[in-house]
Amino acid sequence: TSAVEVAQAHLDRIAAVDGQVKAFLHVDPDTTLEQARGVDARRAAGEELGPLAGVPIAHKDVFTTKDMPTTAASKILEGWLPPYDATVTARLRAAGMVILGKTNMDEFAMGSSTENSAFGPSRNPWDLTRVPGGSSGGSSAAVAAYEAPLATGTDTGGSIRQPAAVTGLIGMKPTYGGSSRYGLIAFASSLDTPGPLARTVLDAALLQEAFSGHDPMDSTSIDEPVPSIVAAARNGDVAGLRVGVVREFDGEGYQPGVLARFREAVELLESLGAKVIEVSCPNFTYALPAYYLIAPSECSSNLARFDAMRYGLRVGDDGTRSAEEVMALTRAEGFGAEVKRRMMLGTYALSSGYYDAYYGKAQQVRTLIARDFDAAFEQVDVLVSPTTPTSAFELGERADDPVAMYLADLCTIPSNLAGNAAISVPCGLADEDGLPVGLQIMAPVLADDRVYRVGAAVE
Ligand code: GLN
Repeated sequence: TSAVEVAQAHLDRIAAVDGQVKAFLHVDPDTTLEQARGVDARRAAGEELGPLAGVPIAHKDVFTTKDMPTTAASKILEGWLPPYDATVTARLRAAGMVILGKTNMDEFAMGSSTENSAFGPSRNPWDLTRVPGGSSGGSSAAVAAYEAPLATGTDTGGSIRQPAAVTGLIGMKPTYGGSSRYGLIAFASSLDTPGPLARTVLDAALLQEAFSGHDPMDSTSIDEPVPSIVAAARNGDVAGLRVGVVREFDGEGYQPGVLARFREAVELLESLGAKVIEVSCPNFTYALPAYYLIAPSECSSNLARFDAMRYGLRVGDDGTRSAEEVMALTRAEGFGAEVKRRMMLGTYALSSGYYDAYYGKAQQVRTLIARDFDAAFEQVDVLVSPTTPTSAFELGERADDPVAMYLADLCTIPSNLAGNAAISVPCGLADEDGLPVGLQIMAPVLADDRVYRVGAAVE
């Protein structure tokens, strides 16, 4: 089959179901088919193309794309056309992948349900009354609904793993610095990590390998050889592997059906020859509060660039107002409630007199969490936990309660704070609601291959 035929089949699927699923913010069949024709032409000309050539991809609308709008699901960027491709976008284009469109998300990736999108929420294809997770919820919905075979996402506190878990997909947060942030609209720069969403562990590995690797355009990009994750995803051998169950992420506050599937996954690993050990990471319980100081602090600084002059929306510029007034009006109208809440929190936490008490303390906790990981990885090769405390919740259920929303990322946030590799792999359906449950597998920094190997065993 040609790239054009494959692209057309997915465009047809999008046309048939996206009115209900609402995974995409932008689809432009002409641009997609033009790219597909380009790939077919490269192949016809005898160019050696890799395994992803001609495979369609959906990009989270937080990666810049030079031929498609990029909004981060914010009104403040409506109508902006980026002049360049993100490194992730560019590398996948070079690999011959065909962009189907840009997917919905929580505004600036702040949220766990896509309900913070300025353009309305996406739906969970398993049950259209439920959320597809977030912030990469448009990407998870698109792949779960077979609108796209693969998608990109970003994970700052869980935004790839959590949506993957609640839609029955594989979602991977690579080691921080293993995938480039160049051209990724920033939320919290010390945490933001691009990663893949896919229907199989091998698909995820192929995608991640295609966009990974050192990028001189990102100052935090790691310049070190990485073990092959594709080989690991093909391997799946866990005999003799030491698997640590995180005591702090097991028990109270978890949906019983989620815990039941998690325990079965651990038993499965044991039956495949892994050695299961209980491990304590006492500081993980402080990860959520530390994250909700660090991430808002960084976002308050990053989002200052939306000043009504440089990009997108400009409100009230009628010749009578000062630049400062125009900026205030634009930001008041252009940002949603959650984004404003975070910028206010972050500005407060960073203000002189409070800096040491809040931001400084949170950074100390961050170090303690990294040390918990170091100590745990002296005893075990990987750590496991449920990815999320519950299966997909109902649309609207947590929309008015930010703290309930924040709890969705209880188990995923420690790996963002420490920067290590972590994946979510489906491990069955919860008894209560028949909805997917995810197993989270965490490995040390740069040991991305290890989570793929374990993921392949569980899959
Ligand atoms: N849900 C978390 C938040 O709202 C994580 C988001 C993310 O990983 N981008 O900040």
